[in-house]
Amino acid sequence: MDDEIRKSIRGIALLNASEHDGKTRNDAVISKVMGSKPELREKIKEIIPIISEIVNEVNTITLLMQKSELETKFPELLTVKPKQDRVGLPLLDDAEQGKVVTRFPPEPNGYPHIGHAKAAIIDEEYARMYGGKLIFRFDDTNPEKERLEYYAAIKVGLDWLGVKYDHIKNTSDDMELIYRKAEEFIQSGYAYVCTCNKETISKNRREMLSCKCSFGDLTQNTKRWKDMLEKYKPGEAIVRFRGNMHSENTVMRDPTLLRIIDESHPIHKNKYRVWPNYDFAVSIEDSVDGVTHAFRTKEYELRNELYYAILDKLQMRKPRVLEFSRLEFDGMPVSKRILKPLVQEGKVSGYDDPRLPTLEAMRRRGIVPEAIRKFVLSLSFTKSDTLAPFETLESFNRKIIDPTSMRLFIATDPVKLIVKNNNLTEVEISNHPQKDMGKRKIRIDGSFYISGNDAKSLKVGDEVRLLEIYNIKITKIVPNIEADITDNNFKPEIPKIQWVPSQDAVKIEVLIPKILFVNEQFNENSLEIKQALTEPYYLELNVGAEIQFVRYGYCRKDSANQVIYTHK
Ligand SMILES: [Zn+2]
Repeated sequence: MDDEIRKSIRGIALLNASEHDGKTRNDAVISKVMGSKPELREKIKEIIPIISEIVNEVNTITLLMQKSELETKFPELLTVKPKQDRVGLPLLDDAEQGKVVTRFPPEPNGYPHIGHAKAAIIDEEYARMYGGKLIFRFDDTNPEKERLEYYAAIKVGLDWLGVKYDHIKNTSDDMELIYRKAEEFIQSGYAYVCTCNKETISKNRREMLSCKCSFGDLTQNTKRWKDMLEKYKPGEAIVRFRGNMHSENTVMRDPTLLRIIDESHPIHKNKYRVWPNYDFAVSIEDSVDGVTHAFRTKEYELRNELYYAILDKLQMRKPRVLEFSRLEFDGMPVSKRILKPLVQEGKVSGYDDPRLPTLEAMRRRGIVPEAIRKFVLSLSFTKSDTLAPFETLESFNRKIIDPTSMRLFIATDPVKLIVKNNNLTEVEISNHPQKDMGKRKIRIDGSFYISGNDAKSLKVGDEVRLLEIYNIKITKIVPNIEADITDNNFKPEIPKIQWVPSQDAVKIEVLIPKILFVNEQFNENSLEIKQALTEPYYLELNVGAEIQFVRYGYCRKDSANQVIYTHK
């Protein structure tokens, strides 16, 4: 047997031993060897004695020696091992390196928001952590609510977040398969077609009563299924899972599997009129897509029983379903039921209004995708609902944007200041205090604007420093503030204020998004608009540039005359 094979068996045995307190076993090593080196399967008879010999050798050395041999001779084996500390996510049960498949299944019925970001990032991080795959699947089986523009918006949002998927598909492309499964269900008696009205169905569910349809025979169900596809009207018939009307879990009281929706589908138009509901579609799709670990928010927890029951009856492979908590910011609801009217009534300017938790709004506001990812991964993977303070996301964002944010001066609610004995015509200022981001020249003539807030606190006789120029003493407050240069010495005790040259000042508006809902009431003052002046250099920055206005805060340039306040 050649040395290369011996060497790789020894590596596998060492790795297995080091993962099990220093002891490995023949069967564990055999299966790993066969799994990683399929070409050796034919030589299994020759190899087993060698494995057993190597296992014995490895078991006689200490755990410490095993680890050091692994590190020196087999470093490649150690690098593929998933590490919990990489992203702070707990390891998965039943997860094999290279074989984990996750999926992100949004319904294209709205704009993507922070909740989608959390799901997509967790799905992607797990796929990467295990060297597996991420499937991006539009769960589009409710034509009443879905629109092409939402498919596009979700895809744009995902790309912006930097989430990379291995495969993209639509559940609606599998309708033929879903119909076959529905027929299989009906044929085997695990489902029946119910023609009761909505009220009766709800009442029966509450009172744990079966309706007469559930006693119908196969002939009746087959006929009714055919009629569903062809002539029943919406609401006249549904396919119901034969669950248990006495179940403690209300989800299991003969839930709906398929219903009629006579609306044009964004992709398939009028090709189908019977559509699976969420539970039926998602369980079948996850199974056929090869998903190994399916994550969803914990509000679906009661639906797990149905998810598994559907796959049980269909004798299909079962993925492992895991829950995480929903992510929402305090006072910033993600629900379409709440956001849609705000947009329709014009209370916000659109789905990219910076007060909203949509990804488009976050982008406009100056939140960067890396910050969202770090933030999502920093939340513990608990099931308790996360009502995260927006400040936590801001602090991640600040750390990321600070090194690349251009420093500029701004005067909000500007007030004029005249320096009588000004003798300078130009100053040169660094664009960033630490990083080399170049310098800018500002023309000055002794006439400045300062912020209204700073002006308010000035009294005759006060000495202040105009940042980067000189110290001045206030000589007059009304009608205009006037001052004289004192000197240019460093004086730690005097206030230092920023300024804008009045001759080249650029007029801008600062949009300051505030909390959208206070005590579940729309906050009429959730958007503050401040008039401000800034330096001419502002005009040279691209839209999208992140600026730190000195002594004010971080803002993103939204247009030639508007910035959006990102955070302090
Ligand atoms: Zn019925």
